[in-house]
Amino acid sequence: MDLFEKCIGFYSDPKVAQKYGYPLNPKTAQAMGMFPYFIPIEHPEGTEVYIHGKKFIMIGSNNYVGLTDHPKVKEAAIEAIRKYGTSCTGSRFLNGTLDLHIELEERLAKYVGMEAALVFSTGFQVNLGTIPAVMDRDDIVITDQEVHASIIDGVRMAKVLKNVQTRYYKHNDMADMEEVMRSLPPGPAKLVIVDGVFSMGGDIAKLPEIIPICKKYGARLMVDDAHSLGVLGGGRGTGHHFGCQKDVDLVMGTFSKSLASVGGFIAGPKEAVHWIQMFARPFIFSASLPPSNVATVLACLDILEQEPERVARVNKIGERMRTELRAMGYNIGETETPIIPIVIGDMMKTIQAWKVFYEAGIYTNVALPPAVPPELALLRTSYMATHTDEQIDRVLEVFRKVKDLVHIGA
Ligand code: PMP
Repeated sequence: MDLFEKCIGFYSDPKVAQKYGYPLNPKTAQAMGMFPYFIPIEHPEGTEVYIHGKKFIMIGSNNYVGLTDHPKVKEAAIEAIRKYGTSCTGSRFLNGTLDLHIELEERLAKYVGMEAALVFSTGFQVNLGTIPAVMDRDDIVITDQEVHASIIDGVRMAKVLKNVQTRYYKHNDMADMEEVMRSLPPGPAKLVIVDGVFSMGGDIAKLPEIIPICKKYGARLMVDDAHSLGVLGGGRGTGHHFGCQKDVDLVMGTFSKSLASVGGFIAGPKEAVHWIQMFARPFIFSASLPPSNVATVLACLDILEQEPERVARVNKIGERMRTELRAMGYNIGETETPIIPIVIGDMMKTIQAWKVFYEAGIYTNVALPPAVPPELALLRTSYMATHTDEQIDRVLEVFRKVKDLVHIGA
């Protein structure tokens, strides 16, 4: 069989598409206006975007504190290009470390309350590189079943490179976590990894319960704070939210959400961070983060520190949306954050619901397997500090109007 036969089939034959996990083949879906991916946004204006000349209210962005078009942030990026140029064209290991990278690492470590931090070129690379780097042969990694794909792939890589053993516990189920931990042999080193805020469900890892279990069974704890930065703990993350940051061993973060850039970091004790610096392959063998992206993050940290009301505002909007959507009868799962899933649980119905919102001028994201378990196919909505009350009123009005049309309910 020719290598590309499946690609041709996937594009035009619904049966092949279904075999690969999509309810419709892209060609048919596109013709029906039911292909919710790769839609080019022509003109973003923060909370509003233009697509084919039409204005949409954006409730599908991770720009939680609304900093991607902040004048000081844009100016910092431009200034960095003037001073440093557009790229370092090399690995951090070699010619790719700028004084700016070091400044950002020191700043991030302070911000999240850790000894040291290390900047990677994407958040995905942080998990892909850190997990195999910190594990040794036959160690054990334990994760929540619904962690982000980059953690799943980091764990897989650790398995391939280090023969690491892997265990999973049911999502946010502490009894199951304890059960899994109890079943482990005492000898091997152990690492538990969770999303601080789960990226699709918006629910929060129960650190006050996870930490004592980790301690009891001698495991270290790594928290992926991609969606907690700028949102929880005054913006500083999940550990700060619960007042237990000193018991978190490694914090991972991305710049691709509240920090209005792209890139990521790992923070922890200085020897551990130094080890990761020497052994994480995606860190070593990939070019460093461009100066404009680094400067953007530094400017965002300034603003987060100077304008704490942004963090308060995004949480207030999240709370209003959760209350009102629950009252309307929408199934929004266990979310406690401004990430609010509309759980539909059927792939076709989810895409149909997306289209209803899209036609009403509301931009949402569709999450289908493998991003979520099949029974949790959902529309992922998320809110920004910069949404106006009028925009939120309008969004709620649409939710009220389309409720019966999209056949979704708790
Ligand atoms: N972790 C989580 C929980 C995420 O949601 C994401 C991005 N969606 C990442 C890691 C990867 O981050 P990046 O976009 O910086 O690669």
